[in-house]
Amino acid sequence: MTARVLVVDDIEANRRVMKAKLEARYYTVMLSHTGEHAISSAIHQQPDIILLDVMMPGMDGYEVCRQLKSNIATRHIPIVMLTALTDGDDRLRGLEAGADDFLSKPVDDFALFARLEALSRYNAVADELRTREAANPHTANFTEHEMSTLSKPASVLVVDQNNQEARRVAEALHKVGHEAETWIDAQKGGIKFKELDLIILALSGQRHDALKLCAQMRSLREARDFAIIVTCDEKDEQRAAEGLRIGASDVIQTPLDLQELQARVATQVRRKRYIQILRKRVDTGLELSVIDQLTGLYNRRYMLERLQLWMQRSSVDGKPVSVVAFDIDHFKTVNDVHGHEAGDLVLQEFSERLRTNIRPKDIACRPGGEEFLVIMPETPGDLAYIGAERIRHAIANEPFLVERKNEEIRVTVSAGVATHYGEDALLADLLHRADQALYKAKENGRNRIEKLAA
Ligand code: GH3
Ligand code: MG
Ligand code: MG
Repeated sequence: MTARVLVVDDIEANRRVMKAKLEARYYTVMLSHTGEHAISSAIHQQPDIILLDVMMPGMDGYEVCRQLKSNIATRHIPIVMLTALTDGDDRLRGLEAGADDFLSKPVDDFALFARLEALSRYNAVADELRTREAANPHTANFTEHEMSTLSKPASVLVVDQNNQEARRVAEALHKVGHEAETWIDAQKGGIKFKELDLIILALSGQRHDALKLCAQMRSLREARDFAIIVTCDEKDEQRAAEGLRIGASDVIQTPLDLQELQARVATQVRRKRYIQILRKRVDTGLELSVIDQLTGLYNRRYMLERLQLWMQRSSVDGKPVSVVAFDIDHFKTVNDVHGHEAGDLVLQEFSERLRTNIRPKDIACRPGGEEFLVIMPETPGDLAYIGAERIRHAIANEPFLVERKNEEIRVTVSAGVATHYGEDALLADLLHRADQALYKAKENGRNRIEKLAA
């Protein structure tokens, strides 16, 4: 995932180096050499992320940060402060000024791209919610209740087989007012994932496969909203990058600097809460006209609107957008054998499994009947296929329970994947291609996914 990054630094050589690094990874770069210029640029160009040098003549980075964060036009843009000193005080000052993240100079490539990747992902979710919310007039400020949500202490679980280290981390978080428990201690009381804000997951030196655990936690039904920070030592960088890809929100290198940890926890929790608030606003304020009443998924109208938007974006930035068209297999038989009411319950449970097996930025819709469609923004066909397979498994692997009748129903689903690569194609063509692929999946025996050759 890429983004538009504004680089603010008074020294030309620094700007040049950073620009080259970022462009090599396909980020779009804008440059500012003073604080004043940066503020004006942020207002007018709306970058996705700002990399901000602290030490600049005239207005320093802290002041720029404060101004950007107090301006309604720019306060949503994540700011990463670049501090020359590894001094913790600098970081704390940055956080106080409202910075979202910080990196020490000289900037380590791994840390830089890990941060940018995590922020881009966060942006994708927040953007989506903000656009949905934009129709609502009462959004400019946080309500009192929302403010108290934002500042509530966090509930953190520390997962590390080295329980001594885990306790040291938990202790550091207690000190700044959070509730933190180690995995080993928490198991006695049973872990309530629903109430967790954040998990700190050690990757290095574990006897279990921590990445697998990360993926499992991400797919937990009640886990949609908690953040995961992975920690690893330098030699495990590759695995940490993998962790980010499968759903971790941030990475910290070990040995842990506890102050950095505290700061990153604060950032992740704030973001998680912000998303939570936005989501709640969206849920309550959303026009009923875009939600399907039976399943709570988006209806056809909203599906077409969002797909149009993502295809337009794709034509501009060239990032692919995929759609996966699902159709439940032999659904008529479900109705015939178990009754229409049971059929409705199956559609609801199906939707729930669909919802919990997609990524936050994916958009799950029910255009009609027993047909579903997931829009996957910024996703190439092969990844969409993998996502569709995951969903197919989630449907086929466990029977559907229709409680009242105490019946188990086996359900399978077929799907077709189609991808728009930014070429000048029509929405109807894309949907048609997905339908053709779906038709092929039915023909080839059902309970399978097909993708048309591009
Ligand atoms: P295939 O594997 O070829 O998709 O077979 P199918 O039986 O699923 O396909 P078909 O399109 O023939 O049948 C779809 C059935 O879905 C028929 C319709 O009654 C049922 N259906 C559509 N909407 C609803 C609904 O909201 N509730 C219930 N219970 N059934 C529905
Ligand atoms: Mg059908
Ligand atoms: Mg069907």
